[in-house]
Formats: sequence, structure tokens, C-alpha cells
Amino acid sequence: MRRVQRPAAPARLKTYLSKKEAVVKAAQQAGRLDIEKTWKSARQTKLLGTTALKLLQGAMGQRERCMYCLDAHGTDIEHFWPKARYPARAFIWANWLLCCTECGRIKGSKFPLAGSGRPLLVNPCAEDPWQHLDFDADTGNLMARYDNASGAPSPKGLATVQALELDQREALSEGYRRTHRRLTDVVENALRGNPVDGAALLAKLLELDDHGLLPWCFHWAGQNEPTFVRLKVDHQAAWHVCAAGVS
Ligand SMILES: [Zn+2]
Repeated sequence: MRRVQRPAAPARLKTYLSKKEAVVKAAQQAGRLDIEKTWKSARQTKLLGTTALKLLQGAMGQRERCMYCLDAHGTDIEHFWPKARYPARAFIWANWLLCCTECGRIKGSKFPLAGSGRPLLVNPCAEDPWQHLDFDADTGNLMARYDNASGAPSPKGLATVQALELDQREALSEGYRRTHRRLTDVVENALRGNPVDGAALLAKLLELDDHGLLPWCFHWAGQNEPTFVRLKVDHQAAWHVCAAGVS
């Protein structure tokens, strides 16, 4: 997972969404709201089916990866607050993410909340997922980050891993493991040169980071992996170029 910059919605889409939001509200008040039907028909319009979807896909680079797993093609508009439980949020742009078929199926209408009512699911458009998640380079699994301050795993990390089954999907773990290995290999290769060309290394790393692991490698626990420690200790200038480029 990685932090995603949400694109701005064009004016025409904003207007359409406001209208739909009002329609949903009125139907809800009248007790005749069928959100699945309302969504299905809206989803078939060019504005949602093409414009909005393309906009979200564009935010995920050329490979249009799912915002939750970064492993599969993002093919659908996903409601962060599930529309089945929170229909009033169905047509709010800030509630839309891009997701793949598998993440959409697994998440379904799951939406863990903290006692305060705040979501316990990581929203990649709103926060750095690595604040709550950690990565196991041996298994390739994503897991909850252990928070030293509270002396416990991040509750949001735990709930996110559970809701999306991030530690139970073999193909997903294999994808993350491979990406981590490639990133490590590139750094190992660079370490053979002296001095290490930070800009060239950064460019190579960014090209290979399909799974958003670079912030973990340079800002979170990944910087304690032996290869990255060597880069940090022995080639500080190159380290700083890379660290600044992946934040
Ligand atoms: Zn996915």
C-alpha cells in the first residue's frame, strides 16, 4: 500500500454527484431508497463508468493498480465507507477509491470502526499506510505495525490486515516479496559502485516499486534491513537523495 494523491473531481462530475446525493437523501427520508439499484444505474453512465473511473485509475500510474493491494488492476470504484451501510456517502467523491475485484470481494461491506466512531481501515488517499502497517520481508505479508509508544500493534493496522486479509493472500505476498527482492538487488548493485549515484539509484528504485515499499524501506522499519543500513551508513548523500525522493 502507499499514500495516494486523490485527483480533483472535474466540475461536471461534482455537479452530478451533488444532485445524486440530494436524490439519495430524499429517497432515504421517504423510506424508498434502493442504493444498489441507484448506484448500478449511475455506474452505467459515461460520467461514472468512464470519466470518474479513468480519473481514479490515472492516480495509480500507468498500470492502474488497486489502491488497497497495489498488486492487481484497479477495475472498479470502491466506497471506502461501504454504500450498503452508509448510503448517504455513496456519491461523495472523497469516499471513492479504486479497487481490484479481489479486494472488493474480500472487503465487501466490512468497515471496522474505533470506539470513537472513526474508521479503523487505512484510507490510502488520506494517510500514509505505513503509519499503521509493517512488512515482513521473509513472508511478503503485510501486518500491523508495532507501535512503540503504546506498546501494542496499531489497531488500525490490525483491522486493515484483517478486513482485507492482507496476510492470507499467497499471490499478494509473493508479489510484495518479489518487489522487495528487486529493490534490495538494485541497492546491492549500486553499493558496488563508489560513489553511489543517488539520483540514478532513486530512478531505478521508483521504476521497480510496484507495491509501494520504498517509504517502508527509507522511512520505516525497512531501513533496518542490512542492505539499506549499508547504504545509509556508507553512502549518506545517496541515502538522502533516495529518502527525499520516496516520501
Ligand atoms: Zn486489490
